Amino acid sequence: MRDDFQSVYLKEIGVQTPISSFVDANEKEVVIEAAGAEKVVEQIQTYNKAEISIPSQTVEVAEPAATIKEEVTPSPVFVSGSDDLVALKAKAEACKACELVESRNQLVFGDGNENADIVFIGEAPNRDEDLDGKPFVGANGVLFERMLASIGLNRGEIYMMHGVKCRPQHNRAPKPKEFMACESFLNAQLGKVEPKLICLLGRVVAQTMLKTDASLTELREGRFTYRGTPVVVIDHPSYLLRAQQNKRRAWQDLNRLKIYFQSL
Ligand code: SF4
Repeated sequence: MRDDFQSVYLKEIGVQTPISSFVDANEKEVVIEAAGAEKVVEQIQTYNKAEISIPSQTVEVAEPAATIKEEVTPSPVFVSGSDDLVALKAKAEACKACELVESRNQLVFGDGNENADIVFIGEAPNRDEDLDGKPFVGANGVLFERMLASIGLNRGEIYMMHGVKCRPQHNRAPKPKEFMACESFLNAQLGKVEPKLICLLGRVVAQTMLKTDASLTELREGRFTYRGTPVVVIDHPSYLLRAQQNKRRAWQDLNRLKIYFQSL
């Protein structure tokens, strides 16, 4: 899209933030809800071959309620500065620092380019990832890869992981003490990759790592650092699968991320 056409288009849909021309080549249908007006459907020409439409949703069926266990304070996990990612993964495989190890199928340690300039971090493995042993697979992974493509990236250019490496049952969010138990692995991974930018996916991991109770809106619009590394927050792909009405806002967030990443 030419800049002048894009500016007119953005003004028409009420977008104030400049958006770079990261999209290309595909026709994308956008439904615009103008204030007090009927919905208007515009066909816009985009540049990026990346398709950020959201794939058909996979709904995870809740598992039967688990037997309630006594709360146990996790033991700290010790890692060495000399551990490389292979050694760290081996230590994580053997880790029993929190109760999540008891119900997981596979450890989901991390994947991608060990020299990446950008690291994406989700909160915890879901069922697909628990079965596969890799982060961002299944329906989440399809959308995640489309989100990456929309900003000119692919899995081979980034590193990706979760805040906790073992899957919490029943799709619940990880508890703060589980994040704490697993934190040394996450920090050691970041120490090895040394990214220029960290992208946190969703409210739970962002609030936990940034130690804030800020809303997701505040987190998405803010600028943060984690142990000295710049951080941006965007929606988690699993959230976007459930809330497809937020597709346009995700597109805007990805553009902000791209512009910020390119400025570093
Ligand atoms: Fe260890 Fe992390 Fe798994 Fe808990 S989630 S058992 S701390 S690797």
